[in-house]
Amino acid sequence: MKQVHKKSDDEAVNQLLVAAYRQRTDLAWDRAEAQQPQCGFGQLGICCSHCYDGPCRINPFGSDEQRTICGRAKSDLAGGSLVRSVADGSLALLKLAREFGAEVSADDLAAVMTSEDEMLGNGPARLQALGGLAAKALDAIAQAKRQTYGADQPGVSKVNLGALNAQAVNVVVHGHVAPGVIQALTGAAAKSSATVNLSAVCGADAGGRLALPVLTNYESQEAVLLTGAVDLLVVGSQCVMPAMIVLAAKLNVAVVEASALKEAAAVEAALQTASEAFRRRAGKAVNIPPVVRPLHIGGIDGGLTDALKASYAKGVVQGVVYLGGCGSFGSTQDTVSVQLARQLLKDGYVVVTAGCAGVSLAKAGMTDPAYDEANPALRAALPAGLPAVVYIGACHDVAGFLGVAEALKDSAVPVFAVMPQITHHKTLATAAAFAAKGITTLIGLEGVFTDAATRQSLGRDGILPLAELAKGPKGWNEAAAN
Ligand code: SF4
Ligand code: SF4
Repeated sequence: MKQVHKKSDDEAVNQLLVAAYRQRTDLAWDRAEAQQPQCGFGQLGICCSHCYDGPCRINPFGSDEQRTICGRAKSDLAGGSLVRSVADGSLALLKLAREFGAEVSADDLAAVMTSEDEMLGNGPARLQALGGLAAKALDAIAQAKRQTYGADQPGVSKVNLGALNAQAVNVVVHGHVAPGVIQALTGAAAKSSATVNLSAVCGADAGGRLALPVLTNYESQEAVLLTGAVDLLVVGSQCVMPAMIVLAAKLNVAVVEASALKEAAAVEAALQTASEAFRRRAGKAVNIPPVVRPLHIGGIDGGLTDALKASYAKGVVQGVVYLGGCGSFGSTQDTVSVQLARQLLKDGYVVVTAGCAGVSLAKAGMTDPAYDEANPALRAALPAGLPAVVYIGACHDVAGFLGVAEALKDSAVPVFAVMPQITHHKTLATAAAFAAKGITTLIGLEGVFTDAATRQSLGRDGILPLAELAKGPKGWNEAAAN
């Protein structure tokens, strides 16, 4: 059941949840509850509708071996479902790489777009290949961003809804938007006679030299519009809920697609639309929660790996963990990632984070170098000014973590990845990319791991169920090796 009594741990979001209730606006949390009970077979990945003889499903509690009409076992269904989702996620990352201006070869596209009409799949080999393609896409995205913005630099921006400015033209960029478009918007905003406040939501998070304020993460995207202070919504690829477009229409907020902003004239026209909306909103009340924190970005290139090697040898640091993922309507927003990060810090791990999980940690103040619950010995072991939780940008900005893992490859420093809540296929593909690069990766999709046969059908690929976390990092290593 997804019934969650406390929807969010973010006080800004909670303020707007009350406003939504008062104005009878249903949000994603309400729709998630209306969908209950959801199909248990689907959640476990043990149903199939890949031909019109189906859908077929297998009883997860049955003691006799069961087969679908074409002869698939439970492990084939769960494994097949994982592989198809990873394929879709790898394709999503390649698509972003191309949209961001990177070269994507026809061979790579062909390799990911294998027909799903194959009935005799090769799970382990396909998963390994898809993980490799996802890693290539992440590298290409990083290169495209560097070409547009220049080399990554640590910076400080703002996080949470208080970064909206009632007295300025608020232009909100949401979804994965090509760096060229964001740069064009930033340039036009700087030249505008009006004060334009450009900020980002899930998918367009600050990364590298891009230091846009980040308003909120995936589950609470509709809250941004409920502030009544958004003058224009620019939507990019993936992660924009259709509900955002419906709510924007209801609230008379103009929406423009990022793909339509390739020419300077289109960018100027979009800002003109935003300025007119700002003039119409003059004198009207807005509901911007006064909740905002500094957002410290980047810094993993400046001596982190040397510091990790030295402090691991002294027993001060236990390793480095990437903590990512999307969030889930099945728990109170932000709590799972924040609790996990707290535990990792306590256990002596440096955390690298990005995407919507990263925004959770930033909203909780954990990416601040002065975060007072961080393990003090851990903090002291890091380069000056670097927090123990390092935020590196959007979920597509994780090539930097692959670089850290590569730099530590020949050292004894343990490197892991944890994605407790995955909503989108491209984060699952990112998990496969990490695994393909030899990083033990734990994901919170228990359905994939219904039984040992599923694991065997996929091979020992380095992706583990989150339950392994309870065994501690030694257990992760052993589980990955067996
Ligand atoms: S399990 Fe086989 S028969 Fe059933 S829907 Fe899937 S492909 Fe068709
Ligand atoms: S972390 Fe998940 S929800 Fe957030 S932008 Fe990435 S894929 Fe989308």
